[in-house]
Formats: sequence, structure tokens, C-alpha cells
Amino acid sequence: MASQGNSVKRIVAYFSMEIALENAMPSYSGGLGVLAGDTIRAAADLRLPMVAISLLYRKGFFTQRLAEDGSQTEDPVEWRVDDFLQEEPVRTHVSIEDRRVDLRCWRYSVKGVRGFEVPVYFLDADLPTNADAHRNLTGSLYGGDSYYRLCQEVVLGIGGVRMLRALGYNDLTHYHMNEGHAALLSLELLEDEAKRAGRTAVRGEDIEKVRSKCVFTTHTPVPAGHDRFPMEFLTRVFPKQTGFLDMKDAASVDLMKRVLQAQQDFPGLEEAARQGATLNMTQLALGLSTYVNGVAKVHGETSRQMFPEVPIEAITNGVHAGTWTSPAFQQLFDRYIPSWREDNYSLRGALGLPAEEVWAAHLIAKHELLETVREKTGLNFDPEVFTIGFARRATGYKRADLILSDLDRLRQIAKNAGRFQIIYAGKAHPNDGGGKDIIRRIYHAKKALKKSVPVVFLDNYNLDLGGKITSGVDLWLNTPQFPLEASGTSGMKSALNGVPSLSILDGWWVEGHIEGVTGWSIGEARRSVAGGAPTDNKSEAESLYYKLESVILPMYYNERNKFLEVMQHAIAINGSFFNTQRMVQQYITDAYLR
Ligand SMILES: *Cc1c(COP(=O)(O)O)cnc(C)c1O
Repeated sequence: MASQGNSVKRIVAYFSMEIALENAMPSYSGGLGVLAGDTIRAAADLRLPMVAISLLYRKGFFTQRLAEDGSQTEDPVEWRVDDFLQEEPVRTHVSIEDRRVDLRCWRYSVKGVRGFEVPVYFLDADLPTNADAHRNLTGSLYGGDSYYRLCQEVVLGIGGVRMLRALGYNDLTHYHMNEGHAALLSLELLEDEAKRAGRTAVRGEDIEKVRSKCVFTTHTPVPAGHDRFPMEFLTRVFPKQTGFLDMKDAASVDLMKRVLQAQQDFPGLEEAARQGATLNMTQLALGLSTYVNGVAKVHGETSRQMFPEVPIEAITNGVHAGTWTSPAFQQLFDRYIPSWREDNYSLRGALGLPAEEVWAAHLIAKHELLETVREKTGLNFDPEVFTIGFARRATGYKRADLILSDLDRLRQIAKNAGRFQIIYAGKAHPNDGGGKDIIRRIYHAKKALKKSVPVVFLDNYNLDLGGKITSGVDLWLNTPQFPLEASGTSGMKSALNGVPSLSILDGWWVEGHIEGVTGWSIGEARRSVAGGAPTDNKSEAESLYYKLESVILPMYYNERNKFLEVMQHAIAINGSFFNTQRMVQQYITDAYLR
């Protein structure tokens, strides 16, 4: 069965541990997956001959359950794979601990604005020929221990390359690793090159060939965030693989030293294992890529400081405009800027939209959000009241509770400058105790603030809810601890819907912020990533309160026309640029056509 996608010559293979495509498909946990989905949508719009590959998670990420006090527990997600995906007849396999793990895959087709399709394949190990433990390898996303995770990466990287070959994609010239999780694909490509040269051991010339094909996007601004595994795991997964790289070949030894972060006098794999070496997936990806990028300019700089030995560039993330624009704004753009879907740059024309129609579209989105609040919680939020949104993965550095640092101050601001309300959403990773504490603190503050500042926390943050919150609030709040926000994309979704940001100057906002024009900053711009002043929560909270009380609320309530200008600038200046159409075009010119 030759499906339509296979008949088109594909040159770029995009590998990602998670890809968000549809709300009811639990194939993602957060930002990385949403970005992957938006990247593929833009590739389809641009008719880029791409194919994408990920894992099938039958149990998904999780369903979030929140108790009265905000304590989070997790339930598995039930979904019917064949409601969404079509099984492909081909099979391939990988080897784990000397046991054969058979793989099949399921196809999803992403259709672009001009009808071009990009196929997405989800690898599936749940086959009766596999051992029970292996059948579960494509069970849950971020669900198991570190060893389980490495095995999933074997399936994605090595299984992925083999599956694409089995599907007949023989023209691939570029392998794009979306984060280090996919780095093992390079080992399969190395083995291919050695085999093609009639060798079993890999040498420098193979490394060069593989390097010319690989592109790596890093998303993590802290060393601790990078995937790392003990050497012992590696020898457990691949018991026969020692000697895979030719230890008499200088380039091979260099690569091994770097990837294993072993001592200067690198003695070989067994000795490295005894020395307690670790396999660093980021180093593997860095060592075998011709082009490496961070996901915002400031993140590129952070990455260069972490990995000074390689050139690292930056391509700032975007969001898919057609996906993240609310229905009301889609209609408005269709009417006044008809080319916006094929040509996101034309959104700069938003400056010429009639302000009252922008306001009307915004109110429709706001009503839809407040209706969702009512359905989910029974609470009636007032559409006349200034509404702040904050929806992110609940984790320490994002500081969802920064705005809640001083509740008396919040009550005062509401009294002096005008009423406001806050809408929250976000899941904490099941093992992130600090993230779960933050949700409980929000619940606590919500009770303490009662009616003076209404606060609501919506459970089960997903694509649908993400769209509603980012488009339906009056202000997008973002308070990451600098420089830990690699990019952040929710504020870009808001911008497309005319919702300005109030944010720490980190990630994309360093580029998107023009004070009082596209939104507002919290605190000052930091010049240097390394050796910068430590984060001062108190002064940042103070800056947030000041902007809210003295600038934003007065403008919203007393100078609506000025507020509307900011809204239109958000669309015209930021919506027209921080989208995946521009982003994928940069990948094409900077990475794929290099
Ligand atoms: C947009 C989105 C994200 C990513 O948001 P960031 O601001 O990049 O952290 C995560 N989850 C959902 C459901 C989203 O819609």
C-alpha cells in the first residue's frame, strides 16, 4: 500500500520524542511537542518535503486530577489509536539487551494550506512477538525510569531511521533532531556508513558523512536538563556493541571522549565505564551535527556558554498562526488580510484593522474562555474585568506564583487601579514535587484572595485550553527565572490574538518586547547570561506590581484606545514574525540548504 506521502520524495526527517497534533491525541506533554506539531504544520504549508517520526504513547502523558487543596494526581489517558492513525504494513526492529524488539508504525497526515501533506509516523512496540517489558516501551511519555527512557530513545533514534528506510524514504538528506532525545539516530547512520564502506568499525570519514546530514536543535538552557545516562546502561542495552567505533581512529576516539565525558587518557569503553563515565545525549548530537541551534537569540548565547567547543546559532521559535488564532480573529483576518494563512508576514497589516473590530473579536474570544471557566468550575468570571492569563507546565523556574508573592498588595492594586482576575492552568510533571507545590500555593492564594482578586485554576491544560486561554485573556503573564526560559511560545500565541505580554525579559520576549508598544517588561534586560546578578524575586515582583498598577490597568480602564493600539502592535509586529512559517523558512536557509 503506497500512501500518498510516500510517493513524494522526502529530504528532511524530523525526529521528536513528542509531537502535538490533536487535542484528543495524548502524544505530547508540553512545549517541545507543541513546537514539533507547529513545525510540521508550517512545513506542510510551505510544501517542504519533510517526514516526521515520534513514538506512540498508548497511555499518553496523563490526565490531571486536582483535589480541593490543589494536590495533583495522575490518571492514564485512554484513547483509541485507530480513531486517529492509520497502521502501516511495514515492520522493522531494534535490538535491546540482545533481544529483538519488533516495531510497527502508525501514520498521521498533516495537510498544509495548499493541500501538501507531511506524514507523521508514530513508532509502536506493542506487538505480540515482543517481550511484555518491550511492548510497553511505547506506553507512556516520560513515564518510566531513566533506563526505560534510554530504551525509548533507542526506539526513536535507531528504530526511527530503520522505519523510514523500511517505508521507502531513500532520498533523505537531513535528519533533524528536535532535542537530544533523538541523538541515537546518529549511531544508526554511522553504522550505515561503515557498512557501506565494507567495514564494521566506524572511522573519521563516516563521522564526517553523518555530520553533514544532521541538524540539532537544543532546547535546554541548563546543564542538568540535558539527557545523560550511566555508561553501564549503554552496555546493558547494547551488550555486543563495544568496538563499534574504531579505537585506533583518532576521530572516533575524540567523539567517544566527548560523548562519554571521559578522562583525557580515554582508555576504551570498559575502562570508561569503570571511571564512571556517562553518555551525554546532547554531546552526541553536538558532535554529529553540521548545524546546531538554540531556540531564541538569548538561548543561543546561553548554549554557546555551556558548549563553547561548537558553533551554536539561534533560530527563534514560533507558533503556527492558523492553529493558534481564535475563530473570531481568523474571520477578521480572512476579511481584511486574506493572504495571512499562506503568508504570515502580511499580518503586519493588522495595524490597519478597524480598532472596534479588533475589540469585538477579542471580546468573542474572551467570552469563550469565560464560558469554559464556567463549564469547568461553575465560577462566573466577569467579562468587564481585566483578565490575566498564566498557563505553563507547573515547575519551579516558571514561578507561576510570583504574582501571588504579596496578596495584600494585589488587593490594594485591585482597589486603586481597577479590578482584575487571574486564570491559571498547567500540569506538573508526575515526579516534580516543587511543581506540584506551586499548584497547591495557587489554590491557597485563591482562597485567601476570595472575591477581591478572583483566581481560578483550570485542570488538564491541553491544546484546546491553551488556545482558549492565550486568546481569551487581556494580558499574558510570563515570569520565568532568567535565563531558564529557552524560548517560551504561549506569549506568541497571545500576540496573534492581540493579547500583549507582561513578561520577564527572557527567551523570545527579549526580541519581541518593545515597551508600551507590544507589551511590557518585568524588570530590566540582562546583558550577560554568565555571571549575571542572581534573580531577585522580590524586586521582580515589585516591578510586576508597579507595571500592573501604574501602567497597564490605568491604560485598560481609562485609555482603551491606547490599549487597543498595543493589541494591534502585538499582532502586526509579533504575530507576523514569531510564527513557525518564518521559523521553518530560517531552518531551510540556515540549516537544510547549508
Ligand atoms: C503552547 C503550549 C505549551 C508551551 O507553552 P510555552 O509557553 O512554550 O511553555 C505547552 N502546553 C500547551 C497545551 C500549549 O498549548
